[in-house]
Amino acid sequence: MSSNYSIDTICQISDKEIADQWGALSFPIYQSATFAHRGLGGSTGFDYTRVQNPTRQQLEFVVASLEHGTDAIAFSSGMSAITTLMELFSPGDHIIVDSDLYGGSVRLFDVINKKNGLEFTTAELYKGGYEALFKENTKAVYLETPTNPMMNVTDIEKLAGEVHKRGALLIVDNTFLSPYFQNPIPLGADIVIHSGTKFLGGHHDTVGGFLVVKDKELSEKLRFIYKTTGAGLSPFDSWLILRGIRTLSVRMERAQQNAIALSEYLRSNKYVTKVLYPGLKDHPGYEISNRQARGYGAMLTFEVKSTEIAQKLLGEVELIYFAESLGGTETLITYPITQTHADVPKDILELNGINDRVLRVSVGIEGIDDLIADFEQAFERAAR
Ligand SMILES: *Cc1c(COP(=O)(O)O)cnc(C)c1O
Repeated sequence: MSSNYSIDTICQISDKEIADQWGALSFPIYQSATFAHRGLGGSTGFDYTRVQNPTRQQLEFVVASLEHGTDAIAFSSGMSAITTLMELFSPGDHIIVDSDLYGGSVRLFDVINKKNGLEFTTAELYKGGYEALFKENTKAVYLETPTNPMMNVTDIEKLAGEVHKRGALLIVDNTFLSPYFQNPIPLGADIVIHSGTKFLGGHHDTVGGFLVVKDKELSEKLRFIYKTTGAGLSPFDSWLILRGIRTLSVRMERAQQNAIALSEYLRSNKYVTKVLYPGLKDHPGYEISNRQARGYGAMLTFEVKSTEIAQKLLGEVELIYFAESLGGTETLITYPITQTHADVPKDILELNGINDRVLRVSVGIEGIDDLIADFEQAFERAAR
């Protein structure tokens, strides 16, 4: 198989040899825990599904190709991917993390990893000023860009230069833009994370996660931890994400088109005080986005006039769902302060401007006129 294919084509590739001797177009679900040997030393290449499974391997091949990595490892959730990744580090290691991150990642670092002896420094990485953050024992820098939910954009290439000068690893959670719009590895990242639950799966029907690595040595270390701790993605869920990826490019294009239109609509709405979307020309990250990504994605955040409007809006939307998560074909609205960011410390919330008037939208692929009409009616009722 060629890795020179375009992104749209990579989403369709299938290993025909493993797929099926009968020519099945849909990659089979190898629902088997174990695999028989043909004799002593005669493994088929698959021994036990915790270690590897043909369906999962096919998915990993596609995701590694999409992210330009040497290897991708599929996990039972985004959080199990990040938890396994953190096992690379030892007590006393120091990690610099962005201040605006997925709430579950903050909880993992604060409650589990700190207890196990890791040390963290939190910083607003999009602002630069990296010099002061590094210490003797700094082993990695960890970020999301654009951030969740405040949409801050960090220059990955510039940061990678600073991180590598000091021999540390650059880790980028690329869930928000998906590999369709952004590839951190060619920009200098060593490890890319995905919650496969989001745009890769794309249908709000399964939970999964990925670590994609630039070099082979790191992949071997992570594969060892992976087979030892056992958080691999099941064959059926691997198949669901493979199937989701087949339409990644058309979903991303359409969702982005809707997000651009919705960001403009919200900006003109009298109850809205702020719209954060990197595709808006006056967004501070607009220029960097144009340089390092192929699009702005389908996530946007906005702030309304009052807490009351924000909270009532959640109950008044009809077509749009009030739900956590993101990246599916349906549009979701969420309230970060009580939902995705409920466990983020108060000072960090304040620093990032996440208050009780902030709402986040994962824009789906419905008709844009219907989405705008739903917001119109919801705002009118919420403001009553
Ligand atoms: C959802 C999410 C995660 C966690 O992934 P799960 O699949 O829910 O475990 C991590 N990072 C980001 C940016 C996410 O949106």
